[in-house]
Amino acid sequence: MAACCRKLSIMNIEEQSAVDLGRRIASGEVSSREVTQHYLDRIAEREPAVAAFTNLADDAVTTAEQADQQIASGQLRSPLAGVPVSIKDLLCTASLPTTCGSRMLREFHAPYTATAVQKLLDAGLVVVGKTNMDEFAMGGSTETGDGGATHNPWDRQRTAGGSSGGAAAALAAGMVPLSIGSDTGGSVRQPAAFCGVCGLKPTYGRISRYGLVAFASSLDQIGTLAHYVEDLAASLQIMAGHDPRDSTSLPDPTTEYLAHLDQPVQGLKVGVIREHIDNPGLDADIRDGVIRAQQALQELGAEIVEVHLPHTSHAVPTYYVIAPSEASGNLSRYDGVHYGFRQLGDSGAAAPLDAMISRSRSQGFGPEVKRRIMLGTFALSAGYYDAYYKKALQVRRLIAQDYGAAFEQVDLLLGPVTPTPAFGLGEKLDDPVQMYLQDLYTVGANLAGIPALSLPAGFNEQGLPLAIQLQGPALGEARLLSVAYQLQQQHFFEPRIAECS
Ligand code: GLN
Repeated sequence: MAACCRKLSIMNIEEQSAVDLGRRIASGEVSSREVTQHYLDRIAEREPAVAAFTNLADDAVTTAEQADQQIASGQLRSPLAGVPVSIKDLLCTASLPTTCGSRMLREFHAPYTATAVQKLLDAGLVVVGKTNMDEFAMGGSTETGDGGATHNPWDRQRTAGGSSGGAAAALAAGMVPLSIGSDTGGSVRQPAAFCGVCGLKPTYGRISRYGLVAFASSLDQIGTLAHYVEDLAASLQIMAGHDPRDSTSLPDPTTEYLAHLDQPVQGLKVGVIREHIDNPGLDADIRDGVIRAQQALQELGAEIVEVHLPHTSHAVPTYYVIAPSEASGNLSRYDGVHYGFRQLGDSGAAAPLDAMISRSRSQGFGPEVKRRIMLGTFALSAGYYDAYYKKALQVRRLIAQDYGAAFEQVDLLLGPVTPTPAFGLGEKLDDPVQMYLQDLYTVGANLAGIPALSLPAGFNEQGLPLAIQLQGPALGEARLLSVAYQLQQQHFFEPRIAECS
């Protein structure tokens, strides 16, 4: 298997891909216990400076020992058996709290485990903890969670991106080799870009959403962050597939993504998105990264052509009508009765039901979540539905058609992930529109339901990570992963761990 050919010293556990670690654990060269203990030591050392986790698993070493036994007896054969992993705190886990970064769910223990997480557990991965996020995944900076902000390991004064910022920061700081996140409008890809790691948002429906706490159900998708592209492939292989508990999960047979990483790039057509590159707000170093990727792809034998996504300027407004509209419905379940935080009368005495619900929601949700609920409720209300929600659905169709037309000409699309590298903590918190505009390049893939991958492209002069984005047609993950893998093999970027100083 191509993914297993890298020769690295076992002395440097964190320089190795999760697939390499899995192979070495399987061969008995190192135990899952040793690898897990290494990462737990890293967490103990670096977590105070980064704040990537909401909760740590205190049974990780025991789980690793069990994995070692099962591997030794031949019961576990997955490529990632025994490898540590972190889980975004939006995915339900029966063994650890699931807070969604919200006061509303501060005390919440899910009675079941999300299908994607269960598949990882069944494959022998070792969950080391749950990672920090923006409250209910609404945001792009991992500052609005109940437990406070995550710091970018490359510059602690900057955000790690969001909403899966804890997942990306944990990787960049060398605290895990693999992180599971979710992406509704860019929440895997944007933090991956800000922290210098790879991130994959698969096709809508490729991974079951059962047990992923809903934000915007027609856009939400579970994804992976990792230092190495092969690890995105291996984890997708484990998590993908139909699940009778999620009617939107796709019936297609799961592909052996790892086995396809070496398929030739020669002869592929890659489209550079004109509207993304021409945006005057695009940082010059990021634009340069896209140009370097273009050249690297040409060296691999790809043909570069220019393509247009004419409705690009409507993507952010469309997303910010549809996502809050769905959120306003999904979050109506948090009423102080069924789930989570409950605020009775002022003195703690019983209050009328409607007053109790109102108090619970007012105090349980933070300002950004309340803003989205109000926006969404307004967009769906009688008299405004046609003007906002229905119109947004129509524009969503046009955006999807733009992608469809582009993929008639090319195999893949190349462009930026974000307009700028990581911004400062607190910089955009008081200006939601500025925060939303960060999502310009990422929301299109969610609106169209297609897969998209964020790939590191080096660092700028200030030492901040840069990134490029590859997007493919629905269910085109194998191609997306193989092109990204070969760019990585060609030294387009080298995975690096931050010092966190
Ligand atoms: N930044 C976007 C938002 O705030 C995307 C979030 C996400 O993908 N979960 O909605």
